[in-house]
Amino acid sequence: MSIYQNNILSGQTAVVTGASRGIGLAIATALAECGADIAVVDYCDESLSGKAAAEIAEKTGVTAKAYRCDVSSFDEAAETVKRIAADFGRIDILVNNAGITRDGLLAQMKEEDFSRVVNINLGGAFNMTRHAVRQMMRQKYGRIVNMASIAGLTGNAGQVNYASSKAGLVALTKSVAKELASRGITANAIAPGFVETDMTKDIPEDAPLRQQIPLGRIAKPEEIAALAVFLCSPAAAYITGEVVRIDGGLAM
Ligand code: NAP
Repeated sequence: MSIYQNNILSGQTAVVTGASRGIGLAIATALAECGADIAVVDYCDESLSGKAAAEIAEKTGVTAKAYRCDVSSFDEAAETVKRIAADFGRIDILVNNAGITRDGLLAQMKEEDFSRVVNINLGGAFNMTRHAVRQMMRQKYGRIVNMASIAGLTGNAGQVNYASSKAGLVALTKSVAKELASRGITANAIAPGFVETDMTKDIPEDAPLRQQIPLGRIAKPEEIAALAVFLCSPAAAYITGEVVRIDGGLAM
């Protein structure tokens, strides 16, 4: 049974990047279960994001549409936000979830592996936020949630690029929060530990890190989505510039 049957987001439009699978799909689905119309923004073939949008619409009854966009492109992000605002008439929620890893030790890391990760994980959030806030400022209302990681708080061997991008995302979140608080716009970050998605599918069942998690398991995407829904809701009006760890206690 869903916990999201209260239509608290009815009449709102949510933009979720990287929403055709993994954590993004779980967040888009949960926001739709609360009544928000959904823009599924993804880099993949539009047939995949279109399938995700169709499934969300069928399951929840909201309007959901797919948009193909490489969030690391400033111009593509601008065009996509423009199309979404035209299609839905408003943008209330932006979840910057799209992200990649290109792990490797610093001494072997290619320049391209550093820049691609930073350009998508951090640059993508800048690009989408930069364009979406204009609409939110007109509405004098907005909720921005950025998907960081505990790697951005603690650092991680083999993830100089990824951890740097996520640390940058935390600073971006706090700066946006300070800049736009007076406009009724909040910005918060979520810092997951390990979550069951394609990104972590290669971590073996007996990997030592699983034993290091106090709660003894990896998170489900729906558990991250529950936090995202709260931060995106009117109920979280007094929370901004916050970074919430959701990691089973791993980084405490
Ligand atoms: P995932 O299953 O690999 O999905 C990533 C999503 O981002 C995909 O839909 C992907 O689209 C999209 N994407 C990648 N590059 C893009 C681009 N340039 N433009 C637009 N969309 C793009 O990952 P996930 O595990 O759900 O992770 C989602 C977010 O949570 C990421 O920011 C990740 O860093 C963060 N996170 C994940 C974990 C974890 O353990 N899984 C932990 C901490 C933080 P395609 O389908 O086209 O590739």
